[in-house]
Amino acid sequence: MTAERPEVEAAALPHEGANVQPAHTIVIVGAGQAGGWAAQTLRNEGFAGQIVLIGDEAHPPHERPPLSKAVLSGAAAPESTRLMKPEAFDALAVHWRPGVQVRRIDRAARQVLLSDGAVQPYDKLILCTGGRARRLAVPGADQVPLHTLRTLEDAQALAPALRPGRSVVVVGGGWIGLEVAATARQQGAEVVVVETQSRLCERTVPAEVSAYLLALHRAQGVRVLLGAGVRGFARAADDHLEVLLADGSALACDTIVLGVGLVPNDDLARAAGLACDGGVRVDAQCRTSDPHILAAGDVAVAPNPWAGRSLRLESWQNAQEQGMAAARSALGQAVDYQPLPWFWSDQYGMNLQIYGMPTPAHRVVQRGDPASGSFVLFYLAGDVVQAAVGANAARDLRFARRLIELRKPVDAERLADLGTPMAKL
Ligand code: ADP
Repeated sequence: MTAERPEVEAAALPHEGANVQPAHTIVIVGAGQAGGWAAQTLRNEGFAGQIVLIGDEAHPPHERPPLSKAVLSGAAAPESTRLMKPEAFDALAVHWRPGVQVRRIDRAARQVLLSDGAVQPYDKLILCTGGRARRLAVPGADQVPLHTLRTLEDAQALAPALRPGRSVVVVGGGWIGLEVAATARQQGAEVVVVETQSRLCERTVPAEVSAYLLALHRAQGVRVLLGAGVRGFARAADDHLEVLLADGSALACDTIVLGVGLVPNDDLARAAGLACDGGVRVDAQCRTSDPHILAAGDVAVAPNPWAGRSLRLESWQNAQEQGMAAARSALGQAVDYQPLPWFWSDQYGMNLQIYGMPTPAHRVVQRGDPASGSFVLFYLAGDVVQAAVGANAARDLRFARRLIELRKPVDAERLADLGTPMAKL
């Protein structure tokens, strides 16, 4: 099989590292945001070889953040989420395979086997397979309709259920759960959020931010149950659905949405024997344990110096920047992908942003008052800002980012003083 492949044209590559085989065919698995950016970056960097973009979704690469917000509310059309305008996508001259799944990676022969029976050889393979919404293995989970929110189809299926007079139970008080709850409220539905932990977004933010989110949602009329386990789901006699809670009570509603986290799609990689650990392990150059295979986006577990460990970053920023980094790395460029994590969420017109990885070990310095609607919390180690979380404070947060990246000691009192412009710090 390998012998039949066209000879590699060295001229196809502008950046040839001494030890890097010039690539002729680069196959990208997953046509989401990371995969789309990888394809775009390959061409932007001058790669003239073949790019094959294989994605099981029917759509060209698109961004997911609006799916739980503007697309779900109907304010934005699905097409508005496209990563590239149709002309720009066409201009990439990518061999795009929508609705096709990669079933197996044959590392020895350097080819992938596709769901339509085709065999696609590669010189470099970039895995951008993302993740899927986690389901709950509790009684009734396969007997009642349960919505999740990950794809365009998910958003379109849920949207009609969010309207006045209808009730929604959202299981999971993480980012997806809260964004869906906010959109549902804004559409006039009654909303209950059921969270198993003792606070909201426990995985990703410190307690004071959870408290702010809780107050925000309660003020908007969302009933939030914390420390509440889900025992199962059932159909009630009157056509309603029921969420059965661990304490023996039941919540009747019209619609149930699960927002209980993401499962990385690393099955292909694991079956191929690549090093995986809750996702595909990569180094700072996005390389997996196979030198011909790279990974990027939600599925990749990468060393992160800001966190002091390897982790998966489920964020818009990471999908874009790591997708770009993987493409450059595939071309033999010396990539060092070590992003300062950046994450945002929009709920009820409130914009929350997080830079870095705040932990309970940090000293918290507050600037502005959450009650005023706009504030920034700085997380310091000694006098150095390591992370920042803010609501409706995009400008201050841009300066906060600079402070974090510069690792410059700051005066905590001035940081807390709204009278001292951030630019001065
Ligand atoms: P996402 O970004 O997909 O929302 P997160 O990890 O931020 O993912 O949030 C998932 C939330 O779901 C977490 O707060 C987690 O504690 C919660 N959760 C997980 N399992 C359950 C469950 N069985 N019942 C209620 N909440 C759950």
